[in-house]
Amino acid sequence: MHKTLNFLLSQKLPAIFFSALLILTPSKVLSDAIHLPDLGAPDLSLYTPEAEKKFGQAFTRSLHTEFKLNQDPEINDYIRQIGHKVAMHSGQNREFSFYVIENDSINAFAGPNGVIGIHTGLIKAVKTEAELASVIAHEIAHITQQHLSRRYLYNSTQGTTTSVATLLAAILIGMVDPNAGMAALMGGQSLNIEKQLKNSRQHENEADYVGIKILYDAGFNAHAMADFFGRLADESRNNEFQIPEILRTHPMSTNRLIQAENRANNLLPLKINPPSEQLSLIKIRLNQLNSQRNWHLNRTKGELSKAEHCYQLNTIELTKNNSSIKHLNCLLKASNEEFTHPLYTNLLLERITDLKIENKNLPDLTIYEDAAIKMAKLHDSIYTQRIATSVFVADLFIQNQRPTQAIKWLSNHKREKYSFALENKLAEIYDLMGVQALAYLHQATAQQSIFNFERSKHFIDEAKRINDKNNGTHNEEIQKFLTKYEDTFKKLSD
Ligand SMILES: [Zn+2]
Repeated sequence: MHKTLNFLLSQKLPAIFFSALLILTPSKVLSDAIHLPDLGAPDLSLYTPEAEKKFGQAFTRSLHTEFKLNQDPEINDYIRQIGHKVAMHSGQNREFSFYVIENDSINAFAGPNGVIGIHTGLIKAVKTEAELASVIAHEIAHITQQHLSRRYLYNSTQGTTTSVATLLAAILIGMVDPNAGMAALMGGQSLNIEKQLKNSRQHENEADYVGIKILYDAGFNAHAMADFFGRLADESRNNEFQIPEILRTHPMSTNRLIQAENRANNLLPLKINPPSEQLSLIKIRLNQLNSQRNWHLNRTKGELSKAEHCYQLNTIELTKNNSSIKHLNCLLKASNEEFTHPLYTNLLLERITDLKIENKNLPDLTIYEDAAIKMAKLHDSIYTQRIATSVFVADLFIQNQRPTQAIKWLSNHKREKYSFALENKLAEIYDLMGVQALAYLHQATAQQSIFNFERSKHFIDEAKRINDKNNGTHNEEIQKFLTKYEDTFKKLSD
């Protein structure tokens, strides 16, 4: 038997009881008046695959417009890389999308059409990449097992009149406040709470069972899920007011932990790859950049590798108002030696740009700059799904007053998925150059990529208006753009 579990079994777990995607505390359910976010989705009463696609779009749009998404390209790249690696083993050929929510609570959620949200608090709380992957695998399993549509169907057989849009809105507010989410879902109706709970527990068990297999197939330690949830339950045992959100939405009974362990034990032991240092760097980044007010070494030097320590020192430099050239050499070295991920190179690019912004008497940075761009070229050709390198190269070119070079780089490294940040960057550059019409067109594409069609249309109209005012200077570009834009729109609407 596994160590954590053994320890847990010897203790009495707190009596926490939960529901599948959203918690349910009866007393609160009936007392709260809930404001539902407007998803702008058709309020259909059927959960068909076509409807699910539309709901996925509405859900994504709502995430971007009504919630605080983490916009750091590095953190997003990292989560998406793990997410898609796990999703490749879901056994289903469907689309998944991963977004990072700026929220310190330890939580994750699954929305319609493969949209998965990961809280920054979860990234900070996991100890290994496998633990992070285990939560992602669990959420992926909720999607492959169609728990959302089954839940909806179940609700309708129970005589509730909840619409699909309400169900989705409830997930959205539920991820911030699970109680409010469930209250919204119930709409004040006294539903058979016991039955709801039973239904939810069944979904949770199923997501564990399927999720652990997905996790294993993706090459991660299958024990990671029991490890993580066990540790959280353990830590919160003595403080029921500080139960992590994820335990509220994912009841961790002793029985459930045993089942998770048994499931992992029944899988043949894997040769586990050595842990990637990326998680360590991402945590440094999250801790230092997002809470600049208390920048300090959050781990003692001895616990970090030399390169990780260097990453941390340079991240701290980045948060200073007047950063210095200090620690740039070790970063250059790490960048040159690291081919399995671009994080050192990316930070080097950020540091050079930052130094140029902050310092009047700047020493010559050419040697760092040339090396960083050389490595960036390499990384951008290897990691064709990542966006951070391109964004940071563009920032450096902008700072060097070479906007056309920045545009060229971004156009050479177009990304099919998650193009929001890149299109916004292009809009920013055209705006700086004073080419308003093209800036609007790229803003339109950015909004299209998050399914915010109304806003997108507004930007296209603005582009046309400016272009007319300038006697059609950009007629050709606009026409080319509109053709492509409408093609994409058609694909999205089919
Ligand atoms: Zn779950």
